[in-house]
Amino acid sequence: MRPSPEVEYKEIPKGHLFSPDEAARRKLWALQFIGTATGVFRARGYGLFVGGSLVRDIDLVAVPWRQPQDFKHPDSLVLQLVHDLGVTMGNRGTTLFGHHWYALWDRNHPDHQIDLKVVMPAKFLYTEDSCPGHVSASTKICCHCGTHVDSLRPPEADGP
Ligand SMILES: [Zn+2]
Repeated sequence: MRPSPEVEYKEIPKGHLFSPDEAARRKLWALQFIGTATGVFRARGYGLFVGGSLVRDIDLVAVPWRQPQDFKHPDSLVLQLVHDLGVTMGNRGTTLFGHHWYALWDRNHPDHQIDLKVVMPAKFLYTEDSCPGHVSASTKICCHCGTHVDSLRPPEADGP
């Protein structure tokens, strides 16, 4: 299959009023897109959270949730999503607090921008060597230092 050509983003003027039908159609598509995107993010350990009316644009925040895949830079995560979701990436940048934002759009809905913010996993307070004591709840990762606790277990004895 040949990749289809990129579609330019079509900006709708700020003051534009959507008719009730138009608003309902846009919201319906947004909800469909969010349903798919939520699964794609979840598969990589990210929770996806939604804000706004979904009519003018789609405001999404991705938060590391359960054992997020480790990306050196969130661009790598978003490029995978761009591929999986078939969307185009426009501008991107960094927020005041160092999180990353991306402008995305679907080729069939190029006037409905997807504003994605990606929160990176928090830095651990300690290294494995300085950790005051490993603590691990539902995951197998120490929440103080990020050490994989299972790897520290002594090897099982080889039978009786
Ligand atoms: Zn630890």
